[in-house]
Amino acid sequence: MTPELEFHIPADDVPDRVTLFADVILPLPLPKLYTYRVPYQMSDEVLVGARVLVQFGSKKVLSCVVARVHEEPPKEYQAKYLLEVIDEKPVVTGPQLRLFLWMAEYYLCTLGEVINAALPSALKLSSESQIQLHPQFNIETNEWPLTSHEEKIVFALRQKQHLTFTEVGQLLQLTSFHKIIKSLLLKDIIIIYEEIAEKYAPKVVKKVRLASSFTTDEETLEELFNQLAPKPKQLDVLLKYVQLTPILQNLRMNEEGLEKNVLTSNPHLSLSAINSLLKKGVMEQFDVVVSRFPMAEGRGPYLASDLSTAQAAARDQVLETFEEKSTVLLHGITGSGKTEIYIDLINKAVEAGGQVLYLLPEIALTAQIVTRLKRVFGDRLGVYHSKFSDNERVEVWNGILSGRFQVVVGVRSSVFLPFHSLSLIIVDEEHEPSYKQHEPAPRYNAREVAFMMAQFQGAKTLLGSATPSIESYYHCKTGKWGLVNLHERYGEATLPEVELVDTRQESLRKNMLSHFSQRLVHDIEDTLHRQEQVILFQNRRGYAPFIDCNDCAWIPKCRNCAVSLSYHKFSNELRCHYCGYTERKPNDCPACGSTMLKTVGFGTEKIEDELKLIMPEARIQRMDLDTTKKKNSHQQIIEDFEQQRTNVLVGTQMVTKGLDFEHVSLVGILSADSIIHFPDFRAHERAYQLFVQVSGRAGRKGNKGKVLIQTANPNQPIFQRVIQNDYMGLYEQEIAERQKFRYPPFVRMIRLTVKHPEARPCEGAAILLAKELVDRLGRTGVLGPEAPHIFKIRNQFLQEIHVKLDREGGNLRESKAQVLEAVQALLKNKDLKQVRVVIDVDPS
Ligand code: ADP
Ligand code: ZN
Ligand code: ZN
Repeated sequence: MTPELEFHIPADDVPDRVTLFADVILPLPLPKLYTYRVPYQMSDEVLVGARVLVQFGSKKVLSCVVARVHEEPPKEYQAKYLLEVIDEKPVVTGPQLRLFLWMAEYYLCTLGEVINAALPSALKLSSESQIQLHPQFNIETNEWPLTSHEEKIVFALRQKQHLTFTEVGQLLQLTSFHKIIKSLLLKDIIIIYEEIAEKYAPKVVKKVRLASSFTTDEETLEELFNQLAPKPKQLDVLLKYVQLTPILQNLRMNEEGLEKNVLTSNPHLSLSAINSLLKKGVMEQFDVVVSRFPMAEGRGPYLASDLSTAQAAARDQVLETFEEKSTVLLHGITGSGKTEIYIDLINKAVEAGGQVLYLLPEIALTAQIVTRLKRVFGDRLGVYHSKFSDNERVEVWNGILSGRFQVVVGVRSSVFLPFHSLSLIIVDEEHEPSYKQHEPAPRYNAREVAFMMAQFQGAKTLLGSATPSIESYYHCKTGKWGLVNLHERYGEATLPEVELVDTRQESLRKNMLSHFSQRLVHDIEDTLHRQEQVILFQNRRGYAPFIDCNDCAWIPKCRNCAVSLSYHKFSNELRCHYCGYTERKPNDCPACGSTMLKTVGFGTEKIEDELKLIMPEARIQRMDLDTTKKKNSHQQIIEDFEQQRTNVLVGTQMVTKGLDFEHVSLVGILSADSIIHFPDFRAHERAYQLFVQVSGRAGRKGNKGKVLIQTANPNQPIFQRVIQNDYMGLYEQEIAERQKFRYPPFVRMIRLTVKHPEARPCEGAAILLAKELVDRLGRTGVLGPEAPHIFKIRNQFLQEIHVKLDREGGNLRESKAQVLEAVQALLKNKDLKQVRVVIDVDPS
């Protein structure tokens, strides 16, 4: 058959040309999807979940994700043609798209906001996107044939480091060039990034090896040893090198070399000898680019620990319960070995071919846990962290799509990842407030999103905590979820003993050394004597929450927010913890000129300072937001403490989250009172969780732990609950109150925050909004408006309205639509141009 014949179609058989349209999700907060017309020749290429390029507005070209392909032209406008198809395969999976739609609807935000949060920015192309040469690309060794267009781009990039998409278009004099870019990407010749600030920086390791002329054969090498004999220090270096590399077995292994710092950091070798060898050309130095996610050495055998009898029983119970229920809560005390149970379950899921997502709160995702998991899952484990660069995120994203990563451990944003066959989701420390995203939209709670994800993908969800949220425990009580208990610590360890120190009494007895009771000082000394470690917890960072004038009571306030400025001694600054505003600390009072400015209260910085004076021999490290700004500092602090290079760790909530240290036997809570008196219906729950979690860091491996809580109100009932580990008592009390006063889990809450640069109009708009809400939902479910405790932040005045919707009976979807309507009705008002309304569903 000739080719002509094969493609010959009789004229009357030509099918009608079907015109396709694509609804796309632009990464912008738009109320609805936009419809573009698919050029006929691209009809077969446009896939749901793949990205396409479109013109948006008059100038901007954007990439967006196709949500639907259909044949109905839009009624309200003439659809523009889409410009190009970027992906041959979807980058967003079907279950993911469903989840995104659900999130937009549930959290009352736009799909554009969801997709914007979900996609790493390297997957969001625009006319401003940049390309650069891949750092490992080398024109001399390149084996890919290049087209003339590709060559042009490569040469331009060698001249100019980077080009925007617009510039590429100009260079090639083409409007449609994304195929070319994609081809270069596939060949690893270029990389794309969104902003210069995020430019890909390859990770480079410096290595050394013998110059190749010395490794041609064994005689030459021996000759070299003889030559160096008169220089014993250089000979030492050479001997060490030969000892650490396998070149004596195989001379060609010399090419691999040895990491330079293995030699330079060796105290027995002379630095100048190493340098002489390099200078003489006996050794040579070279760079190696390494992956950010080094492949673990081999997959290795299953290296999880054997479960104890109690752990194995808990695991079996989880599996049994999964037969009937899709969600199980593992209530296991601190140190009971929940992580090992998770690992066991993950392993089972992976062996059955499923994908697993292991969610952790932001700061609990440390090298500690990643190392534990890597040992078992090797290169099948992906890690997703908010401190990762965009390139790292894309690597994880694509690794899940391609099947490289079967297990992902990550923070809340990993619910956005493109899983397609999830069989298990673990939500560790499920009570953690940091699963909730506050800003910007979508204001989601990853724990809740996880349930929907599990539902869409037919996966099971396991939540774990020593201090479950009241809501979660309630679902177990009603039988909606399964519950598994584990009430003993792993191994020889037992729960620490908790004791109270009455700071008011101690103060009267002159037993306080500033913020330290004598008891605490004594116990710290005692612990350090035994070569054990101490964690000290204080809920505030900085030196002092504020300063005030002894004579006229002047207190410095933030000029943008309704809060006092915190004093940071190290930088001698006053700082706003809400907007970041700083000013130098004045030496005397700007109001009355008095020099009697004193600090009030105390933060972690002051604790560290004072302890240094009391115990100069202690090796103290502080862990809070101020000491962990750099990418690896958090890691470093934990490692130093783990290796016992430091022995006292002073910190904020950061020191309470899931950390596992072997030698900590004393935990001190310096001031419990500021934690209990928080104006929120979750205050007691949160305080209990915090006390139990921080206490749980003590005595995890055998040696008996102790916790000292300093308080001015030792009669607070919550302390007895903490001392007796009485979670059930807390639960019963809390759930009764929530039912009585109508709080979650008995109602669903929505918080609407009205913002305006001036106080009066803010209040006025909030009153109007409350009216709109009452009209639609009735009076009983609408509370406020009311100015929050901090009524101005970043020069915006705030007013809050809380909506309570019944869980049972009411139509949640309908009520939420009414909330949106009320907000839209308010914003239609032309006099209220500067008003902004933030909607937060399930606030926390
Ligand atoms: P949790 O998360 O419940 O607080 P972890 O999982 O961190 O507890 O376990 C506490 C400690 O006990 C850890 O140091 C862990 O390595 C150890 N551990 C737990 N289970 C086992 C096991 N089966 N074999 C060996 N060590 C274990
Ligand atoms: Zn004054
Ligand atoms: Zn401020």
